[in-house]
Amino acid sequence: MEKVVIVGTGCAGLTAAIYAARSNLTPLVLTGKFPGGLLTTTSIVENYPGFPEGIDGCELMTRMQKQAERFGARVQLLRALEAADLSKHPFVLTVDGEKIETQTLIIATGASHRHLGLESERLLERKGVTFCATCDGAWPMFRNQPLVVVGGGDSACEEAIYLTRFASQIYLVHRRDSLRASKIMAGRALSHPKIKPVWDSAITEILDLKKDAVTGVRLKHLKTNAETTLPCAGVFVAIGHVPNTRLFKGVIDMDENGYIIPRRGTETNIPGVFVGGDCSDHIYRQAVTAAGLGCAAAIDAERYLATLSQ
Ligand code: NAP
Repeated sequence: MEKVVIVGTGCAGLTAAIYAARSNLTPLVLTGKFPGGLLTTTSIVENYPGFPEGIDGCELMTRMQKQAERFGARVQLLRALEAADLSKHPFVLTVDGEKIETQTLIIATGASHRHLGLESERLLERKGVTFCATCDGAWPMFRNQPLVVVGGGDSACEEAIYLTRFASQIYLVHRRDSLRASKIMAGRALSHPKIKPVWDSAITEILDLKKDAVTGVRLKHLKTNAETTLPCAGVFVAIGHVPNTRLFKGVIDMDENGYIIPRRGTETNIPGVFVGGDCSDHIYRQAVTAAGLGCAAAIDAERYLATLSQ
């Protein structure tokens, strides 16, 4: 019987693991298919407190994992939660076919990249369409080529700036005429000589399915409806995220976009189930806020366990 199972190893999950481990709860921590979460796909993290020079996203997550393990967390690599029976207590989890009983569950499953939803996006994924510049930007096919980044948030700006080291030109395609990104990121992107914004535009098709490789995008100007074609060798989609909460649909309260709605603190509608990080936060979505919510979830779980033994 586990006392605490933590699902997810982004900032929220690993911070929960540090706190739960330091409370002698020896948490079982499941990384799922994406150990370290979305921060491992970023390059330098410049806004996590304590690192004035910035820190590589992968390194930050590796350090968090080591810190949790140092205090007794059992991090199980690539093990994924398949099902959770939360109708009775203790809860019964199915993890890679194995049944695990636990007194508390901390959901820290984070979020995944949102897709444009185009058929051509799906068919050309990994053939020039990608969702992560730091993972794929250095591919030879993108070197000295024009590239498209879609989106107007911090991610799109960060991806565009990162790609300037490889590409000949970057077109930042955004559906409005101003960026949502923070001032510092927007300023850096828009002042870069290799980055050209393409305002008020939507991609209607990624070309070229016949060649089985990206050769350009078809654009629609959203104010004039004019259609144009923009040649490029790659399309980097950076249009936000969707929470990874499908497994809990219908059981844990969530909003219409799938974000889990906490009640008091990190409590969910099921006593003993707690939530932290991007799967419940559509407002702040920062590494440091996810870490803070992971900490809170572990403290709430510990207090709940104390009430069981009273
Ligand atoms: P975001 O802030 O939600 O921005 C998503 C962007 O994609 C928006 O500009 C949005 O347009 C656009 N978009 C959404 N759906 C679209 C669609 N179907 N077609 C075309 N465009 C679409 O997401 P994010 O940039 O990934 O950032 C998420 C969070 O992480 C934010 O809180 C951000 O501050 C944080 N973050 C921080 C850093 C950093 O500080 N270095 C780096 C990355 C992310 P509209 O603007 O019109 O809505």
